[in-house]
Amino acid sequence: MLSRIVEQIFVVALLVAAASPSDAFTTTGTATRTVKALSATVDTEEDILKPPYEVEPISLRIGHGFDIHRMAPIEVAGQPVIIGGVKITHKDQKWTDAEGTYVEKGGIYETQLGVVAHSDGDVVYHSIVDAIFGALTLPDIGQVFQDTDPRWKGCDSSKFMEHAYEVMTGYGYKIGNCDVTLILERPKVASFKPAMKENIINLLHTTPGRVNIKARTHEQVDSVGELRSLSCHVVLTLERA
Ligand SMILES: [Zn+2]
Repeated sequence: MLSRIVEQIFVVALLVAAASPSDAFTTTGTATRTVKALSATVDTEEDILKPPYEVEPISLRIGHGFDIHRMAPIEVAGQPVIIGGVKITHKDQKWTDAEGTYVEKGGIYETQLGVVAHSDGDVVYHSIVDAIFGALTLPDIGQVFQDTDPRWKGCDSSKFMEHAYEVMTGYGYKIGNCDVTLILERPKVASFKPAMKENIINLLHTTPGRVNIKARTHEQVDSVGELRSLSCHVVLTLERA
């Protein structure tokens, strides 16, 4: 992106110099023109999703997505655990207090959990979106929906899914199949999987025979095993619509 901006600044400078050879940047009219031309070089979401090469219409594309978010006591996170569009209700869990904020460092603090994120921190939706963009050779979810953008603060991640679906259909593809591996120690999610699956089917306009959700623990090791994070892998295929 930077090289494109530099290139376009150079082009603008040439145009400006041609228009006003004596002192290109002193007249108001020229300055206005320069600002307008430069603002056009900023990559918009539309630009970033249209690469300067052909996304060839091959019959099958494979995408992989991975996501991880921190979990913390809900009063710190400021929002509940949302996975696959489902709010995961749970009893108090044994969260490891790595910083020693509530109990001695490394001790167990029993609490309701929340996910720390700019958006709602839905690891399943984020992984699926990244897998769709990946299959289409497009930039990652963080570049498309930047975490500095106030539009995405606390955002319901189904918005990202809807957008990814539009992009996918725009390139002439539909979901082949989608295999989700959710990794979290707690809270337990087995009873929420049917609702997650239904949400995914609806958002991707596909069928139950094409979407699978697996969930497993992290064997009590590392941040996931200590309930300080949750993560997700997604592998999916796209086929020509
Ligand atoms: Zn995420």
